[in-house]
Amino acid sequence: MGVDATSAILAAIVSITVAIAVLVRRPQRILYQYFATFTLSLFFWHAAAIASRLSQSDLFNLKLIAALLLPPTAGLFFRELLREPRRSNSRLQRLIFFCSGLLALIGLSPLADEQQHLGIALIYRTFATTYVIGILAFILNGLYKRTKTARADEKKRLRFLFYGGLLTLVLACVGLFQGSDVLTALGHIAATFYVYFLYQSILARRLVDLVELLGKAAVLAVLTLVLASVYALLVLWVGTHQQGLWLFNTLVASFVILILFDQVRAWVEEGTAKLFFRQRYELRMLLRRLIRSLRIITELPEMRSLVLDTLHASGRASQLALYMQVEGDAAYMLYGHRGKIPPESLSMSQHPTLLSELRRDKKPVLIENLLSRQQDLPTFFTADDPSLQREIERTNEAIALMRQLRANAVIPMLIDDRILGLLCLGTEHISEAYSTDELTALLSVAEACAIIIENSQEYEKRRERDRLVAIGEMAAGMAHEIRNPLGAIKGAAQCLEPTGISVEAQDFISVIIEEVDRLNRVVSAFLEYARPYRGNPISANINEIINATIKLLNRDALPINANIDLKLAEDLPPVLIDPEQLKQVLINLIQNAIQATTTNGTVTISTLISLARVTNFKSGSLRFTDRSQVLIRVRDNGPGIKPDDLPRVFVPFFTTKSSGTGLGLAICQRIIENGGGRIEVHSTLGKGATFTIRLPAANSNLS
Ligand code: ADP
Repeated sequence: MGVDATSAILAAIVSITVAIAVLVRRPQRILYQYFATFTLSLFFWHAAAIASRLSQSDLFNLKLIAALLLPPTAGLFFRELLREPRRSNSRLQRLIFFCSGLLALIGLSPLADEQQHLGIALIYRTFATTYVIGILAFILNGLYKRTKTARADEKKRLRFLFYGGLLTLVLACVGLFQGSDVLTALGHIAATFYVYFLYQSILARRLVDLVELLGKAAVLAVLTLVLASVYALLVLWVGTHQQGLWLFNTLVASFVILILFDQVRAWVEEGTAKLFFRQRYELRMLLRRLIRSLRIITELPEMRSLVLDTLHASGRASQLALYMQVEGDAAYMLYGHRGKIPPESLSMSQHPTLLSELRRDKKPVLIENLLSRQQDLPTFFTADDPSLQREIERTNEAIALMRQLRANAVIPMLIDDRILGLLCLGTEHISEAYSTDELTALLSVAEACAIIIENSQEYEKRRERDRLVAIGEMAAGMAHEIRNPLGAIKGAAQCLEPTGISVEAQDFISVIIEEVDRLNRVVSAFLEYARPYRGNPISANINEIINATIKLLNRDALPINANIDLKLAEDLPPVLIDPEQLKQVLINLIQNAIQATTTNGTVTISTLISLARVTNFKSGSLRFTDRSQVLIRVRDNGPGIKPDDLPRVFVPFFTTKSSGTGLGLAICQRIIENGGGRIEVHSTLGKGATFTIRLPAANSNLS
């Protein structure tokens, strides 16, 4: 089998594969269907060439009939690709369909049989061939004309398509007229490449990726040439007659290639990139260096100037903006920029589309994608679909923001699933936007920035924590210093002889004693709160602790009007807690409740078990884990807590009582949380308050 047949088989396989691949794509588009019909007609053309080669007879008419399918299918496809109004060319399109059909029919009739009517057959062949070439050239001319009027980024893509098409047509014609095997093979190969290029072009629609594709094809071609020459050098000179030596040299050549491969590939890749795509090559190198430098940076301002200056100096981003997330908010503040001043902030409320897209997809947003979405939207929805208008508005809003930012790409600074910042890059022309490989490298830069941002935020938090710890220690020291002389002041005031001083002065002395007592209470409670936790947890029965607390309170004289109602659940599991500390918590809650209820109020203390079910999926089977909790509720029917005060009752020093310290509930919360539990409050104004303590049961893992 000759090289022409092999290349035709290859071309046929590629054409049919591409046709199938494009037909199974979802969502299906009319453009895909037209492209599939065009590639199918190319498949028939290649198949006819194979049939003619295999049957050793020149099935010229068969090849011609297959080629006659090309003008109408190419016409339909390119018209759709160029988005020409359907009606404008439809008469011409119908004419092409008609002519191709008529010529195909003539080709099938005995009229075109060269054995019967040689003259007519020759005229027919010449006419039909000219017709096919003429129509294809006419379509290419349309493509060329469109390159003049198209949008900047579209223009380049169409130019690629035009020159590729022209080259394919010329090579196919040369092969046809020359009849040489190699030239025919070249025609097939060119058609194969062109189909693949069209396929990429309609799917990726990213010109830069097509350029990259060309780059990769060039690398592959050079690599094949270099490695094939090693083989040729080592194997060909031996010739197949010396089989032993030939086999040996093949092994040696394979060995040499294996050793050389990585090195040669790196060298060829670099060389090709330097030669054909210098700008892109330099940017990639620059980004690699930038990522390396970012690894050793810890300060945010340093990161800002390094990233902005490096990218700006690269010449591939004339407009740059760096935004940082406002902590705990869905907004981003401008942190630095190069070029024209971008907006001060980006917020979810003002720019929902772009930010929600970034959050959802976690990948760069590109203006070219938004522009093509804007164009394609009407094809995805019917005109009366209400979502169409909404989608158009959303896309327009995102495009407007990108224009305001003068950005071609907005790259998220991702860490886990959080976007800590945004890097916006823009060039003067959309057509010079970033290729997918470059975007991947830019995403790595953004990731390195995200790590720096997170580390610095963590460092700030730690510094703040350390500062608070130091202030706490200082305050505890001061409280000690205040408490020590209090005893002496009170003692001295009490020592004053009441008989020797006036009644007014006696009143002052009792004020001194009262205030000293109050100060002592506050300072002692504060020291209790600030004291490092040193509990002695044991497996304890909650009901017993509650009963002991009530006894203790009775002994310490509860007000006579205090009604305490106990509703204790039986068979409570034990709880790991320091009983003395839990008593302290209960006393505090009960005293607060009694103080709130005044006369004839009721304080209800109840206990119960709560079973929280956690579902686990392990090796496909369901497994239940029961994590039980013991709940203690202290409820009163007093006036309740105002909704505004409710979130503040556990905050240290919050009190509504004239002689309160505001530390009771803060201490309770600390004790319960240290025991691995939680304390919550619910209250309805006028109906009382309920404090609920949740403690994990000591034997919580029942499964
Ligand atoms: P203190 O009792 O010294 O004010 P706490 O921390 O124990 O300090 O309580 C803080 C505040 O919470 C109280 O001043 C009161 O306003 C409110 N509070 C606590 N328990 C109750 C309750 N059972 N009913 C109404 N308000 C309460």
